[in-house]
Amino acid sequence: MSPDQTAARDAGAPSASLLERIEPVEGGRAMHDPATGELVGRAPEAAVEDLDAAVARAVAAQPGWAAAGDDVRRRAMHAAADAIEARAEELADLLSREQGKPLNGPNARFEVGACAAWLRATAEFSVEPEVIVDDGTDHAELHHRPLGVVGAIGPWNWPMMISVWQIAPSLRMGNTVVIKPSGYTPLSVLALVEVLNSVLPEGVLLAVPGRGEVGARLSRHPDVAKIMFTGSTETGRTIVKAAGDTLKRLTMELGGNDAGIVLDDADPQAIAEDIFWGAFINTGQTCAAMKRLYVPDSLYDQVCESLLEVAKNAPMGVGREEQNVLGPLQNAVQRDIVVRLVDEAKAAGARVLIGGEHDPEAPGFFYPTTLVADVDPQNPLVIEEQFGPALPIIRYSDLDEAIEQANALEVGLGSSVWSADVDRAREVAARLEAGTTWINKHGAVDPRMPFGGAKQSGYGLEFGEHGLKEVSQPHLISW
Ligand code: NDP
Repeated sequence: MSPDQTAARDAGAPSASLLERIEPVEGGRAMHDPATGELVGRAPEAAVEDLDAAVARAVAAQPGWAAAGDDVRRRAMHAAADAIEARAEELADLLSREQGKPLNGPNARFEVGACAAWLRATAEFSVEPEVIVDDGTDHAELHHRPLGVVGAIGPWNWPMMISVWQIAPSLRMGNTVVIKPSGYTPLSVLALVEVLNSVLPEGVLLAVPGRGEVGARLSRHPDVAKIMFTGSTETGRTIVKAAGDTLKRLTMELGGNDAGIVLDDADPQAIAEDIFWGAFINTGQTCAAMKRLYVPDSLYDQVCESLLEVAKNAPMGVGREEQNVLGPLQNAVQRDIVVRLVDEAKAAGARVLIGGEHDPEAPGFFYPTTLVADVDPQNPLVIEEQFGPALPIIRYSDLDEAIEQANALEVGLGSSVWSADVDRAREVAARLEAGTTWINKHGAVDPRMPFGGAKQSGYGLEFGEHGLKEVSQPHLISW
């Protein structure tokens, strides 16, 4: 069935809220709003056998989807974006309640908008056959074929957007997809998939909401050709081992601890807002957020003051209250990591500029916006990933030392350099060990620009033509 026919089929379906359509008839796991503790809905819980059944359906659907041709798949990307836009507010509301992120700021509405934008952008790239050799004697062309079934395993911080990052290129290249959402945010992903499936043919995209054992089976499954994973480095290692027996292709987007380095010619006031959001986007729960900031002696006080001003004017609270731009941590485990790291920094003599106190009696998993100055470069708040709203600001007097400290960790996802002189910043950028180095911005992912990690932040590229090639099988034909 073509996407157009599928849309026609669903147009006559009785209208129901997305939540009504995805909740199980009975049972299920109660999901609560991390800001208030209120019940959001009940998530179905799949077993390993359900995963096997989903993979079998995806295997059966894949040849037809591949044969449908590139134009059909390109149109399906746009139809999927249209479907998301038509239910954008409902998706954003559910995302806000389950994940905790506010509707406004670079949060829930922004994330839903990014889903549509990424689908449209993925429709516009293409991978054409490439003539490799044509010298009159030898000829060789490189084609890119579908891999088969792609398994997608995602996190809880950007559950809809990261799912689209995995789903869109995979489908575009003629693969079918089985996705396992994070156990913390299954409703968001199920609602997204429900909307996408209103325009996709049967069996092309299947969601299996289960806990880690379902993900473990997906990463071992003999009929799954590739795993796209975003999550912690530790789980990434487990998946690499599990996928080894069947030599699956892997894209691993793992944790980071991104450094930002301010150079001594920067204008503190001009850069403060962008530094703040580079660190505090999604209340700090972003793989490629800035997690440590290195500032030269000469600008240290001014940068601290400018950041403090921005921090004071960024309201934190319940996601559905329109004024808020920062929210709670998504879960208690993550909140406790932030509490521990800031407490350790304080105990070691660091100076808290704002925040730094957690009220265990207050409802929700909130931790206040926190800036920590005069922190030792080896403090755990600097060298461990906090993944929350607490930024350590490290003073430096020697740029070479700052670069050395930025490179000292085993992870290397993103990094940034802040300077009035782009050429000078580019020289520093060239010395940083990371998948991406931004200049005068941080975490600004773009569907046209390949994104991936260095060192233990993972491997494989997402987005653009590079991303499409990663979900395909290169096939050389030579005569
Ligand atoms: P995890 O890496 O534990 O989980 C990510 C996904 O992997 C989830 O869907 C999880 O399922 C699944 N999973 C867990 N175990 C296995 C397994 N053995 N085989 C296959 N899949 C599995 O991340 P968390 O969500 O628990 O977050 C922990 C830390 O990871 C954070 O503190 C943060 O540092 C980092 N992180 C990084 C992200 C990034 O964008 N790079 C995003 C989120 C977290 P289930 O939830 O059901 O267990």
